[in-house]
Amino acid sequence: MSKGGKREKLEGIDKKVKICSKCPLHKTRKFPVIGEGNINAKFMLVGLGPGYNENLQGRPFVGAAGKFLDELLELAGLKREDIYITNVIKCYLPDNNPTKEEIEACSSYLDRQIEIIKPDIIITLGNISTTYIFQKYGLEPHSMGDVHGSVFRISNLLQTKIIPMYHPASALYNPDMKEGLREDWKNLMNVVQV
Ligand code: URA
Ligand code: SF4
Repeated sequence: MSKGGKREKLEGIDKKVKICSKCPLHKTRKFPVIGEGNINAKFMLVGLGPGYNENLQGRPFVGAAGKFLDELLELAGLKREDIYITNVIKCYLPDNNPTKEEIEACSSYLDRQIEIIKPDIIITLGNISTTYIFQKYGLEPHSMGDVHGSVFRISNLLQTKIIPMYHPASALYNPDMKEGLREDWKNLMNVVQV
């Protein structure tokens, strides 16, 4: 697919999300966070949904969790410009706890983004994103404690790899987790090459 083709298709999603009212979260959004980064990226990161700062700026991971994510990316040798970042939920999620219905309503946008961008590797951030992507690709549910930092290969045409990671915000609530997260990200390029 040409770059222009991808961009136009993604702009089509932008337009739809900006006026979307498929779930109650549209009532409290200021700007939806649709996604940003390199549309030809090998890596796509999938977080949960916009928090307070993301809602005000319409950009993913610009708050405290984003700052830690930048540190983790650097440990993996990645920059924001190298990757594409989006979320399962596109409108402000005040309590980080979407309902099943909200996930069902919003995930079609993520599905379409994956279809257009065709990342080689999807890094899921946190439980909700991981559960959604595992289900989408027919992987058995696992606890994050067992799967974080490991590669799951999907036998689709594109041989997509899924790598679940703890959500960077979990280390902000629980600083003891920081070192473990750093280790997973330091190791990222090693596990990808296996
Ligand atoms: N947390 C997320 O899951 N996504 C964001 O964009 C910001 C914080
Ligand atoms: Fe639409 Fe998703 Fe926003 Fe709900 S969260 S209104 S489904 S864009």
